[in-house]
Amino acid sequence: PELAALVASGTVDVPDFPKPGILFKDLMPLFGDGPTFRKVVDGIVAHHGPDSFDVVAGVEARGFVVAAAIAYAVGIGVVPIRKAGKLPRPAFSATYDLEYGEATLEVHEGAFVPGQRVLVVDDVLATGGTAGAALDLVERAGGTVAGFTVLMELDFLKGRERLSPRSVHALLTV
Ligand code: IMP
Repeated sequence: PELAALVASGTVDVPDFPKPGILFKDLMPLFGDGPTFRKVVDGIVAHHGPDSFDVVAGVEARGFVVAAAIAYAVGIGVVPIRKAGKLPRPAFSATYDLEYGEATLEVHEGAFVPGQRVLVVDDVLATGGTAGAALDLVERAGGTVAGFTVLMELDFLKGRERLSPRSVHALLTV
């Protein structure tokens, strides 16, 4: 409950971004507040347990911020899951629909040691399209999904149902 309140207080609602009719949850104020950011990162590590994963994968771009902090806190590595066309070496790719458009995510072939336990992180879970693609990519690249965490889940968009039976950990559900 304390972490949920911290996420709520670090979020600004932005109407009509990136398109008319979308209410965008902007978590930049949370990232910008040192003590809050540290509590949120430490809370995620404590929830999953620092020994339950071997590497952290973050979804471009805000997922990178959280994933890198978690990885540093635990003393492990971070793997970026990138938008199309950014990775320099051969990559797996997954295309999916999202709340506002279509997108492709990619991860390098061989990004994970086979069987490596991967904690996958993003800032917000909306329809679940992004997360579904990210989790598929982790497995195609040889990883085992150890968990999926977001700071905020937008319940009305039913991402959790779309990802079922995979489990989702959200610090705050709105
Ligand atoms: P989904 O694929 O519909 O679940 O959308 C989730 C992806 O879009 C995540 O990578 C989020 O960073 C981004 N996203 C969707 N809605 C929001 C929002 O309201 N605030 C911040 N990011 C969002």
